Amino acid sequence: MKLILLGAPGAGKGTVAKQLTQLDGSVQISTGDILRGAVQAGSDLGKQAKAFMDRGDLVPDELIMGIMEKRLQDPDCKQGFLLDGFPRTIPQAEDLKKLLVKLGIKLDMAVNIDVPRNVILDRLSTRRTCSNSKCQAIYNVKSMPPKKEGICDKCGSPVVQREDETEAAISHRLDTYNKKTAPLIGFYEKEGMLITVNATSSEAVIAAIKKKLAA
Ligand code: AMP
Repeated sequence: MKLILLGAPGAGKGTVAKQLTQLDGSVQISTGDILRGAVQAGSDLGKQAKAFMDRGDLVPDELIMGIMEKRLQDPDCKQGFLLDGFPRTIPQAEDLKKLLVKLGIKLDMAVNIDVPRNVILDRLSTRRTCSNSKCQAIYNVKSMPPKKEGICDKCGSPVVQREDETEAAISHRLDTYNKKTAPLIGFYEKEGMLITVNATSSEAVIAAIKKKLAA
């Protein structure tokens, strides 16, 4: 399947994407994960992106499109992909549309995961992430803590609170989402490819996606 997952930070895009990869071998493409990996590796991309990310601002569109143009041509995308955190602005969505035409790729749909703000705020402030850039497993201190406190179940690296998940950065990221990313809902509605799912459980979101794919 070839999907765009839309939704505020903390809506559950990453969790849904990970579960969908188990269904048919589609790959999760998270621009946030790619950027955090680049920051940790100290690459040029990471150096350019870090200050924007720490503030909770979006990284410039040109950097993101450079990443995605390459990534979508990797052989593992042939089977399908789940775009998690991309596109994030109208210019990215317009450039993606052109890129997909160029690559001869047709998307199945854009899924808007709509979760109330109070749930999002609670989830983000209690979320913890594996510090190993190759793992980046997600935990929650309340609902899904690692078995051993502060240690990733999957790879044994320290589990930390992301620098952009302090209260101030979270609130800024949500404002940025409302200003820059929420307009994509109208964009994909006009394209006739949007479904909106009001659900706080990933199972419900996945059930809605399966139903739409089968229709
Ligand atoms: P995420 O893990 O998706 O919440 O992304 C973390 C941070 O990476 C964001 O707050 C942005 O600074 C940056 N980022 C991720 N994806 C994008 C994107 N498509 N466009 C611009 N910035 C992005």
